[in-house]
Amino acid sequence: MGADQATEAAGGKRGTVASGIVLAVFLGIALLYSLGYNVKQMRDEAAWVDHSIDVLQNLSLVEQMVLRAESAERGYLVTADAAQLERVDFARKELLTLLDQLERLVADNPEQAQRAQELRPLVEARMTEIDAIVAAGTTDRQAAEALVREADAQQMTARVQDLAGILRRAELQLLAERRDRVDEVTFLLTIGSAVISIFALFSAGFGVLAFQRRKAVAVLQKVNTQLAHDRGVLKDRESELSAILTTVPDAMVIIDRKAAIISFSAAAQKLFGYRPEDIVGKNVSLLMPEPFRSQHDGYLARYLSSGQARIIGIGREVIGLRKDDTTFPMELSVGEAKVHGESEFVGFIRDLTERKERERQLQESQDQLFQVSRLSTLGEMASALAHELNQPLGALTNYLNAAKRTLQNNGVEAVTRVTELMDKAVEQGLRAGAVIRRLREFIAKGETDQTRGSLKALVQESLTLVLLTVKDKGVRIDVRLDPTFDLVIMDKVQIQQVIVNLLRNAIEALDGRDLREITVASEPEGERHIAIEVRDTGPGVAPEMLERLFQPFATTKQEGMGIGLSICRKIAESHGGRLTYHPNPRGGAVFRLTLILATPDQAAA
Ligand code: ADP
Repeated sequence: MGADQATEAAGGKRGTVASGIVLAVFLGIALLYSLGYNVKQMRDEAAWVDHSIDVLQNLSLVEQMVLRAESAERGYLVTADAAQLERVDFARKELLTLLDQLERLVADNPEQAQRAQELRPLVEARMTEIDAIVAAGTTDRQAAEALVREADAQQMTARVQDLAGILRRAELQLLAERRDRVDEVTFLLTIGSAVISIFALFSAGFGVLAFQRRKAVAVLQKVNTQLAHDRGVLKDRESELSAILTTVPDAMVIIDRKAAIISFSAAAQKLFGYRPEDIVGKNVSLLMPEPFRSQHDGYLARYLSSGQARIIGIGREVIGLRKDDTTFPMELSVGEAKVHGESEFVGFIRDLTERKERERQLQESQDQLFQVSRLSTLGEMASALAHELNQPLGALTNYLNAAKRTLQNNGVEAVTRVTELMDKAVEQGLRAGAVIRRLREFIAKGETDQTRGSLKALVQESLTLVLLTVKDKGVRIDVRLDPTFDLVIMDKVQIQQVIVNLLRNAIEALDGRDLREITVASEPEGERHIAIEVRDTGPGVAPEMLERLFQPFATTKQEGMGIGLSICRKIAESHGGRLTYHPNPRGGAVFRLTLILATPDQAAA
């Protein structure tokens, strides 16, 4: 998600939050309003309850006052006590007030108002009866008793009580209804308060959440902007890197810790002839010929367990193998990188074919120069030899001719003279022999610089030197050197000349053959020597050549000089070793060169 999209999304969220707040406020107001309404309702209903209670109290007071007036009337009849009359008066006044009050109280209810109005005449009638009895009581006792009986018959008190009872029951009924309404409103109020409390809690929670969310959105936006910036920087770096990688002429191959190829650059595809889909995921040893191929996994494992590096961080010249099975010299530098804690190895490969081709051409022209100079040396030697030998041979011929003539002219008597001439001829013959011996000694001695050196390195260099010829002819070269016997005493230039010569002869012998393989192998011979064999799958040495193989000027090639093997054998002998030929049991030739191994002291040195 881009920064703009994030802002848009945050804007959308803010809209939702705002409408949520508006809804919450609206709901809050509605709830408060209904709460207020319910409180008012409850207050009203409570007033009505009080009102009913007032009515009931009033009714019972009316009954009490009637009964009080009645008992005061009876008391007066019995005791003639004036205090009883005061009680009657008091009750009358009270009753008037109470009845007024009752009518006011029930004025809102027509039915009750009707009953209240009916009560007043009943009460007044009873009070009139009582007044009449009291008036008669003091003066005319009999009349008073007759009035009492009449009043009893009228049952006015009972009628007052009955009507008051009706009023009371009606009021009690109203009271019950009002109580129910109060309960209802109380229930609604409780629910309302609970809802408001819950709502308030939710609102508070919602508020906190909204606040935190706002904060989180702000943080996210900041992180997003930073990320977008970082991504931009990363993209720039990536394109920089890919620009560098596409312009760098070196091929690049990345492998994981198990040697499986992870990345194969465009230059690598061109160099090795593999497309990425053919090679990615495969073992990198596919890109190297034997014996390196079988050694590679072990080498990598050793490096990972012990950190002992041979190429990683160092770089060196090695041989690469293309998809079409041809080989080429290359310079390999390897770096290690840690990706998510795992080792990855990045190899940069530079094709040395052109450089080696130039070196080869140089070497070839040097060889040619060397050959020309050798030829001219040989020519000089031949003329010097002719000059040196001419004299003793001429003298020898002259002495022999003189001896022949002496014999013909003087018969047998000339023995003394002939013996003399023959001695001289022998002397000249010996002189010619000495000249030849001196020449051989001169050739045999030569100038050598023998030191301790690695056979493996030497073979490697010689191979690299002739590799370009091999590439052209599609020859496979297999190197199997015994690593425990590597150091020998040698003149490196001379022994390299021998190995190069043997390899060149082998390659030439493979020309036009179906199976084109060369093996360079070594094995110890006795205690002090090491034998290096160059085996090929060519036709082997021709039978007519076998006798003269190591003699100078013996060749089967049109352009050949026939002096290579003779010089090689001389070099081997001057190193205290030998050079021999054996037919290969599997077909082809085997040339075996033995050299002296460096002693442990020399090796240590
Ligand atoms: P040149 O190579 O110039 O002929 P050499 O002395 O190196 O001189 O070789 C002499 C001859 O030995 C060659 O002409 C060839 O007949 C034979 N010869 C050398 N090496 C081999 C080989 N590997 N296979 C077959 N014949 C060989």
